[in-house]
Amino acid sequence: MLDQLKSYDAIIIGAGFSGLYQLHSLRDQLGLDTLVLEAGSDLGGTWFWNRYPGARCDSESHSYCYMFSEEIYKEWEWSERYPGPTEIRSYLNFVSKKLDLRKNIKFNTSVEKAHFIEDANQWEITTANGLVCRSTYLITAIGCISSANIPNIPGLEEFTGDWYHTGKWPHENVSFKDKRVGQIGTGSTGIQAAPVIAETAGHLHVFQRTPNYSVPARNAPLTKDFKEYVRDNYEEIKDLVQSTPNGHPFRISTSKVFDSNEDERNKVYEDAWEKGGLQFRATYQDLTTDKKANDTAADFLKSKIKSVVRDKKTAEALSEIDYPYAGKRPPIDTNYFETFNKENVSLVDVKKESILKITKDGIQTNQRHIPLDIIVFATGFDAITGKFFEMDIRGRNGVKLTDVWREGPKTYLGLQTPGFPNLFTITGPGSPSVLCNMPPCIEQHVEWISQCLEYMRANHIDTCEADESAATEWVKHVNEAAEATLLVTVPHSWYLGANVEGKPRVFMPYAGGMNRYRALCDDVVKKQYVGFKMKSKSNVINAVTPNKNQTFDVTNQIKTPGI
Ligand code: NAP
Repeated sequence: MLDQLKSYDAIIIGAGFSGLYQLHSLRDQLGLDTLVLEAGSDLGGTWFWNRYPGARCDSESHSYCYMFSEEIYKEWEWSERYPGPTEIRSYLNFVSKKLDLRKNIKFNTSVEKAHFIEDANQWEITTANGLVCRSTYLITAIGCISSANIPNIPGLEEFTGDWYHTGKWPHENVSFKDKRVGQIGTGSTGIQAAPVIAETAGHLHVFQRTPNYSVPARNAPLTKDFKEYVRDNYEEIKDLVQSTPNGHPFRISTSKVFDSNEDERNKVYEDAWEKGGLQFRATYQDLTTDKKANDTAADFLKSKIKSVVRDKKTAEALSEIDYPYAGKRPPIDTNYFETFNKENVSLVDVKKESILKITKDGIQTNQRHIPLDIIVFATGFDAITGKFFEMDIRGRNGVKLTDVWREGPKTYLGLQTPGFPNLFTITGPGSPSVLCNMPPCIEQHVEWISQCLEYMRANHIDTCEADESAATEWVKHVNEAAEATLLVTVPHSWYLGANVEGKPRVFMPYAGGMNRYRALCDDVVKKQYVGFKMKSKSNVINAVTPNKNQTFDVTNQIKTPGI
């Protein structure tokens, strides 16, 4: 209770990639008294919680890291093409040690309430373990896919076996040896988990509601040459990830699908398949915007599934995909389709054999009872807004964030919500976030927020708050950017909130590309924080209302969206 009502300059919620860098930036670069509150017992964010079998990042390791410090970048050496949770946690520990971050982090401290106290011009934070403290600035660094979604299937409470959600995986080893396992969900997570669970399970039933495209990840240890390339080309790699629409270390081709004939195209797809990874979607510039162009990639990937999976019925169920490739987040895998050739693995096509209920010892479908010892929910997240809604966040006049976002999140640049002064959201809704490689998005937001706070302090500004009309224009633009892509044609995508009952169907991330988004944010700064109301005491210092053409003028063409 020593900290009762202690005031800080800044409080950051979350100690993952975002929170750690924001802490360093505010504490060490701006000299602010900063505290990080973290619900977990250690740092890592997403990677603290996601320890499910087969978990591995889909971004390549040399780009899935901080780039703000050349020294840190060069000192750390990744071991594999894609980093796993243990290596990512080691990396974050290394950074944390180097920058001495732990001393300003309170673990096991879950934020329950954050209320803006108008008279004091401060945020008051209350945590589940009884801490109450205040800060001038409040920064959420809570991640986008951190609120587990457990579907409301009747009977779960009756189940006498063990069950787990992949996003809240136990820290101790879970043994599947000789167990009858049911895995529900075949998104990026389920596609990673199934092959590993199948290695030891007695039998694995994979419950698939919507089939998914997947490209082999082709993970492998990094060669000595590649490690040297990474060490010697820091500037070049940094420039690359910061200038592409999706923050990955590869360029999206400038060619269009029908610039090539069928043979040329198949060669391009075959090479990308062999190379593996998310680079497949970068093979042509119009894959994510033109359905006919997309069909060529979709057909190629479906034919691959059929060529791998021996049982015709299973191959059919896995490849009957009725939405465009990369219309949902495209998974990458290690032996996912091959897994269905194993004797101990079977697919349950939930579209034809629906789940009726969970029983005390299995899952009852409309055709049979499947006895199970373990159920694994790889059923995703209440993404982007879910974690915000787990907290009671109230802005001016006690207005609740849940009410302001009831019809869908309303932000300006994904950074601020009108009515919530000095509350900044790292990779918040309306920013590129999940459509990109996360660390470059995080760095851009952290640096923008720090620069904004520096400006406020230099100019004796007490509050920064998104202007209502700027947020309205921005939400319109976020929709416009999504409409220019095939992403909005997939009705069951979590980008639209469609995976959570009762959630409004609104496209949440910004699909206009990270490079364009970065330019917009820089432009806003150049124009004296146009669209943000900057107030000192009760005087408005700057309330430049954006004019659509002026503010969003670099967004006129969405040709290579950030996905
Ligand atoms: P997800 O993409 O939302 O997939 C959830 C799966 O569960 C879907 O197959 C969904 O089917 C199914 N499902 C949900 N409710 C169900 C129900 N009641 N009955 C049957 N099936 C149900 O979640 P995720 O796989 O955890 O991935 C979420 C995101 O996390 C990814 O898109 C990615 O951005 C990120 N991620 C990243 C990595 C990485 O970098 N390595 C790894 C994993 C995840 P429907 O499709 O029919 O809804």
